[in-house]
Amino acid sequence: MKKLEQLYEGKAKKVFKTDDPNLYIVDYKDDATAFNGLKKGTIAGKGVINNRVSNHLMKMLEKNGIPTHLVEEISERETIVKKVTIIPLEVIVRNIAAGSLAKRLGMEEGTKLQHTVLEYCYKDDELGDPLVNEYHIYALGAATKEELDLIADYAFKINRLLSDYLKDLNIELIDYKIEFGKTPDGTIILADEISPDTCRFWDSVTGEKLDKDRFRRDLGNVEGAYHEIMKRLLGE
Ligand code: ADP
Ligand code: UDP
Repeated sequence: MKKLEQLYEGKAKKVFKTDDPNLYIVDYKDDATAFNGLKKGTIAGKGVINNRVSNHLMKMLEKNGIPTHLVEEISERETIVKKVTIIPLEVIVRNIAAGSLAKRLGMEEGTKLQHTVLEYCYKDDELGDPLVNEYHIYALGAATKEELDLIADYAFKINRLLSDYLKDLNIELIDYKIEFGKTPDGTIILADEISPDTCRFWDSVTGEKLDKDRFRRDLGNVEGAYHEIMKRLLGE
């Protein structure tokens, strides 16, 4: 597999073409941003951890019937993935009130939600990724009803699988963001990443935050939290 030209550099990853037209290589960076790019920084070793953690979780999901873009981890920071056309939605699932939902609904952070919440944001940096509902999504042509029904099914199934898996490691899954993409034959698969950048992970016993909120809110020991997640998931 040959790494060819860079297609895209995002806030957390670079995406490269390969000599196989159906595959990309993603390269995870240590750069961290928050508040739609207003806050910028570096988290030493984050790229390595997110690459390994995301692949580990995607493997677990794949084994349990969720199709993912994961093909092969080729280095500490690089992974071969199936090329998809990203569906321009941030699919957010919430078990416990935190972040923007706690603020919007006036709930105290940490309150258990009486029902799992599924939210969609339209992926558009200039608009600040606005919250949208299914009708907005159809109106935008971002996904069809059939596609969105499948995405919602996957999002809830992923929630059960991830929550159960993490519970055994004393990690509570508060909320997370996932992205889906379409392969050239139209199949919808899980893409992007699942990591402490894109999930809220709280220690089940102490309640300590083990995710990007440590960076967003200047809570200190950001690197330590990312390492702790890798240690619990991968044993190192
Ligand atoms: P952002 O674009 O928000 O700054 P990243 O730095 O993580 O985010 O950039 C990675 C980009 O690659 C994202 O836009 C993501 O949607 C996209 N992406 C993730 N997985 C795939 C894939 N398998 N095929 C094509 N694009 C992907
Ligand atoms: N999230 C993400 N990328 C985004 C926005 C949110 O990965 O651009 C994740 C975030 O890490 C959290 C969940 O989605 O796990 C819900 O985030 P929320 O809406 O509370 O946003 P925030 O508090 O980050 O503004």
